[in-house]
This record gives sequence, C-alpha cells and structure tokens, in this order.
Amino acid sequence: MNEIVRKTSIKPCPICGKAMDVAFKPFCSKRCADIDLNRWLTGVYAVPVKDDEDEDGTRPADGDEGDKS
Ligand SMILES: [Zn+2]
Repeated sequence: MNEIVRKTSIKPCPICGKAMDVAFKPFCSKRCADIDLNRWLTGVYAVPVKDDEDEDGTRPADGDEGDKS
C-alpha cells in the first residue's frame, strides 16, 4: 500500500476551489487571479472597521435640552 497521493501538495484555488495551476499559482487560472486582484483593488479584503458596541442604548446626553428660559 504505497499509494501516496501526490495531490496533497496541491492546494485548491482560493477563488473557486479547483486544482491550482502552477502557471497561475496559487490560482487555477488567470481569471481567478484577476478576480482576486480585483477583490484587493475594491477593498473586499480590507480590514473592516470595528464598530463600537459600547453604546447599546446609553447615549451621552450632551444636549442642553430643558434649559430654555
Ligand atoms: Zn479558480
């Protein structure tokens, strides 16, 4: 039983999951490489701005309401 699968070193295309092509490493085709590049350019991979989950109802009252004369 010496059936060592050589496929273990081949990673799937991160875009579509197909077998990677060494010519377009780590993608399977130029198309997927373009898609990935486009994602970078459009900011899909950008780190999302973390929302402050601090204000869940308690808003700072910095308004001067009720002080009408
Ligand atoms: Zn692909």
